[in-house]
Amino acid sequence: MIPRFKILFLIVGLIFGVHCRSARVGQAETLMGTLVEITAEGRDHKLVEARVALAFEEVRRVDRLISTFREDSELSRINRAAGVAPVQVSPEVLEAIERSLEVSRLSDGAFDISYAALGGLWDFSGEKPARVPEAAEIAARLKRVGWRRIQVDRSAGTVFLPEAGMRLDLGAIAKGYAVDRALAALKVPGVDRALVTAGGDLRAFTRPGEKPWRIGIQDPARRDRLLGELEIQNQAVATSGQYERFVEIQGRRYGHILDPRTGRPAEGVLGATVIAGEAWEADAWATALLVLGPEQGIKLLPSPPGIEALIVDAKGRWHATPGLAGRIQPAPSPSVPFLFRL
Ligand code: AMP
Ligand code: MG
Repeated sequence: MIPRFKILFLIVGLIFGVHCRSARVGQAETLMGTLVEITAEGRDHKLVEARVALAFEEVRRVDRLISTFREDSELSRINRAAGVAPVQVSPEVLEAIERSLEVSRLSDGAFDISYAALGGLWDFSGEKPARVPEAAEIAARLKRVGWRRIQVDRSAGTVFLPEAGMRLDLGAIAKGYAVDRALAALKVPGVDRALVTAGGDLRAFTRPGEKPWRIGIQDPARRDRLLGELEIQNQAVATSGQYERFVEIQGRRYGHILDPRTGRPAEGVLGATVIAGEAWEADAWATALLVLGPEQGIKLLPSPPGIEALIVDAKGRWHATPGLAGRIQPAPSPSVPFLFRL
C-alpha cells in the first residue's frame, strides 16, 4: 500500500545494453521532515527495487525510534523519564547517543544533544510569536544542558537523564544516521551503485569500476548558484546552515543551531559542508562547525583520511581543510544530477 504522503516517482527506469543490462531505480518520499531520495543501480531490476523499498523502511524505522516529534519514540520516553528513571532503549538509539557524546567530547561541547533543554525558549516553528528570551531564562535552562550528565549504561541498554527538565534531541545527527542505515540495506550483492540523500545529508556507494556520483554544493550566500561540484564514490557529505530554519525578530535573524555554552543561536558561519566515511559523522560535524566557527572548527575536526570540511563564514569567505580545496570543481554544470543544498 502506498502511504498518502508518499511522493513516488521512478527516475529513469531501465537502461538496456546488448550483453550488459543495468537497471536504475529512484524514489523520493517525505520522511523525517525532509525529502529523502534513494537511487540505486544493478542488473536485476526486481532486486534493486526491493532493496530501495527496504532502505526507505530503514529510514522510517530510525525515525520512529529517535524522533522527538513523536510522543511514542524511544527518545521521547527518555525525555519523559528525566529525573525519574533510566529507560531501556534499542541498540540503534544507544548507538546514536553514544556517537553524539563522542562528537561532544571532540568538539569541546559545541555539539550537544542535551541543548534541547533550551528548546522551548527559542521557538523556530513559527507557531508562537517569536521573542528573544531574557538572560535569566536562558541561564536557568542552561543548568540542565550538559552532555557529560547523560548516563548511558551500555550493558544494561539504558539511558538516564538525572534531572527533571533535561532533554535530548538528535535532530543534528538523526538524518545522517538514517542515511547510513538506508545505505547498509543497499550495499548488497546485485547493487552496483547507490545514493541516499535526506535533506542536507547524503551517502554514496559505488562498486570498484563503477562511475562515481557527482553532486553539486549550493552556495549559502547565493542560493541560486552552486559553489561547485564534487565527485564521490564511497563517502558521505552533510551540510548545515542557519538559513535552513530561523526566526526574524526586529529585523535580526536567529538560527536554529544553538551554542550550548551561551544558550543563544550560533553566529558567524553561513554554512558548513563535511565529507566523511559515514553520514552520521558528517551530519554531526556539520552542525558542530556552525557552533565552533572556521578556525576552532577546522582545528577540532578529526583528521583521519577522508574527513574534510568547507565552511563559509558570515562574510562569505571560504575556509577549507587542505584535502578538500582541490576536490571542488569550480565550474558548475547545469547537468548536476543531485543538488546538494548548503
Ligand atoms: P543540522 O541540520 O544537522 O545542522 O541539525 C540542526 C538541528 O540540530 C537543530 O534544528 C536542532 O534540532 C539541533 N541542534 C541545535 N543546536 C545543536 C547543538 N549545539 N548540538 C546538537 N544539536 C543541535
Ligand atoms: Mg547535522
